[in-house]
Amino acid sequence: MEDIASSITDLIGRTPLLRLQSNSAELLAKLEFLNPGGSVKDRAALAIVEDAERRQLLRKGSVLVDATSGNTGIALAMVAASKGYGCVVSMPRVCTNVERYALIKAYGGVVLLSEPNEGAEGMLRLAKKAAEALGDRAYYTAQFSNPCNAEAHLNGTGPELWRQCGGRLDAVVLGAGTGGTASGITRALRSLASQSGVQPPKIVVVEPELSRTLSGGVHHNGHGVTGIGAGVPLAFVCNKDETDEGQRVQVDEFRSCSLADALDEARAVSMRDGVLAGPSSGAALRVARDVASELGEGKRVVVILPSAGERYLTHPLFDAHRRQAEAELGLTDVVVDDGRE
Ligand code: PMP
Repeated sequence: MEDIASSITDLIGRTPLLRLQSNSAELLAKLEFLNPGGSVKDRAALAIVEDAERRQLLRKGSVLVDATSGNTGIALAMVAASKGYGCVVSMPRVCTNVERYALIKAYGGVVLLSEPNEGAEGMLRLAKKAAEALGDRAYYTAQFSNPCNAEAHLNGTGPELWRQCGGRLDAVVLGAGTGGTASGITRALRSLASQSGVQPPKIVVVEPELSRTLSGGVHHNGHGVTGIGAGVPLAFVCNKDETDEGQRVQVDEFRSCSLADALDEARAVSMRDGVLAGPSSGAALRVARDVASELGEGKRVVVILPSAGERYLTHPLFDAHRRQAEAELGLTDVVVDDGRE
C-alpha cells in the first residue's frame, strides 16, 4: 500500500490535538503550526483558491493578491507555487520581520510594504492598487471578507476538533486576526453540539491588549502580538452585545492579553511541553489557562496554536536567545558565501 501526496496542498489540515500539562481543567492544543506552510492560514488560503478555481476565475499565470500580517501571505505564496499561480501580498512594515519577508520570497511571492502611519488601511490600499495594476491577471483573495476563509474552519478545523474530542469540549480559546478561524469553528461546534443534543462549548476570542477591535476600537500598530489584532474591522465575528450583520457570528466572550504575558506564556510552553509557540499562540494559551482554572478539574478547554516560534526568530520573543547566539557565533559582520560567483 502506497501513501503519497501529489501536492503540498493535500497535506493541509488534519492537524493533531495535544494534551498540555495543566493543574486545572484539561488543556488541549490544536497544533495548527503543523500545516505544511507553518500556520493555520494554509487552510483559508487553500479554501479561497479552490473556490476561485471552481468558479473558473483562475488560469495559469493568474496572480493571487491580498493584504496580510504575514501568515496568509506565506500560505498564499505556497499554494500559488504548487498550483502555478503568482502571488503578491502587502504587509505593514511594522509587523513584517525578515522571516516572513524571506519565506514569501522563497515561495516565489512578491512583498509590498505599507508604512506604519498608514495603518491597516494602507496595507489594504496597497494590495488593491497592486490588483488594479495587474488587471485581469489578478485575483484579489480578500481574506478579511471572503466567506471561504471562515468556511475552511467550518468544514475543516471545527469538525476535526469535534471528532478529536469525541464531542466533549467545554471551551475553545483562540485569537482573531480576520476572525475567520473563530467564526468557522464556532459555527461548526454549535451545529455539531446541537445535533448531539449537548451544550456547545463556550467560545473565547483573544485580542492583544493594545489592539481590541471587538471590545471597542483600540488599535496600536506596534502591539507586537503578530497575526491577531490587525486593526481591520472584523467581518466574521462580533461580540454578544452586537447585532449579527450577515456573516458575523456572536462569540461568547472576548478577552485581551498583553504582549508581555503572551511572550511569557509562549516561552513557558516551549520549556514545559516542548511546544514552540509563536506570540499569538502565547496570547491564546495565557487566556486558555485562565479559562481552565475558572472551569476547574473535569472540564476540557481547547486552545488553537496558529503558528510556531520558529517563524519569530527576530521577534522580541527570541531576543535573549538571538542576542546570545549572535554574540557567541560572532555574527555581526559575517558574509555568507553561498558558493555562487
Ligand atoms: N495567529 C496568527 C499568528 C495569525 O497569523 C493569524 C492570522 N492572521 C491568526 C492568529 C488569526 O487567524 P484568523 O485570521 O483566522 O482570525
